[in-house]
Amino acid sequence: MSLLVVGSLALDTIETPFGRVENVPGGSATYISVAASYFVKPVRLVGVVGSDFPKDAMEFLESREVDLEGLQVVSGGKTFRWGGRYHYDMNTRDTLFTDLNVFEHFDPVIPESYRRTTYVCLGNIDPVLQKRVLEQIEKPRLVVGDTMNFWIKRRNAELKATMRLLDVLIVNDAEVRELTNEPNLIKAAKSIMGMGPRVVIIKKGEHGALLVTGNTIFSAPAYPLENINDPTGAGDAFAGGFIGWIAKTDDLSDDNLKRAVIHGSTLASFCVERFSLERLKDLNYIEILDRFREFRELSKFDEEIAV
Ligand code: AMP
Repeated sequence: MSLLVVGSLALDTIETPFGRVENVPGGSATYISVAASYFVKPVRLVGVVGSDFPKDAMEFLESREVDLEGLQVVSGGKTFRWGGRYHYDMNTRDTLFTDLNVFEHFDPVIPESYRRTTYVCLGNIDPVLQKRVLEQIEKPRLVVGDTMNFWIKRRNAELKATMRLLDVLIVNDAEVRELTNEPNLIKAAKSIMGMGPRVVIIKKGEHGALLVTGNTIFSAPAYPLENINDPTGAGDAFAGGFIGWIAKTDDLSDDNLKRAVIHGSTLASFCVERFSLERLKDLNYIEILDRFREFRELSKFDEEIAV
């Protein structure tokens, strides 16, 4: 199976109560591809960077066997930059700046070798660009899409048009409320299901994630970590783990969607342990499986009452 990922590649400046980093590699496509690369090969990347995107970040993506044929490098251009600040409650963050730079005039061109890809993940990026990618490829088996408040505010109509083409929407709790004007998450998920996606996944930060399909509601816990340094990219690592597992197993049953949600939560939990891509860089598959199994123990209990 193959996976196509489109999204942002960024240089992030991040402040958390535990440190500050400047111009470190980030972006939705970066986190998604790296997380998914632990499950599926090839991961085909579509995006754009300027000539200032670090060579070692590019080499790292290549070392994870991420196909960069669809990555445009604009010579003399500046890479997308994003700045964020987290407080002690790491579920909320302030966006300090969003400089689109090379994304402003980006026109995704899908290489011939990408046109027949089984699975597609549309990472957080302008929904107009997400749609343009889908228009250039043969119909995939499953399209997963992500977005964020920035686009819900600025490109609402365009986002709704892209949503009609999605099978799975991944959003966080605040975003789904904003998208639907519905405070109750289950009602909000059902309202999204009337807009295109047949599966909705709502991320709730340190409170886990909710999977809603036509037949199932599944609540996954978050891994109870003691050391969280930087929540940036958790949502994207979640999406990468989720779609990576689906692409590896090629099974769209509700039971397998639940496993995929736990794999997403697993990759997100590793991502937040360190800044930028640092923790996702040195992972191995055994560690992923061990933590995946720990998730089962987290909410397993005995229904028998001892008398
Ligand atoms: P997450 O923490 O999973 O929501 O993703 C954070 C990543 O999204 C960061 O690495 C940012 O570079 C990237 N990002 C932030 N704002 C945007 C935006 N408006 N469009 C695309 N990517 C963004």
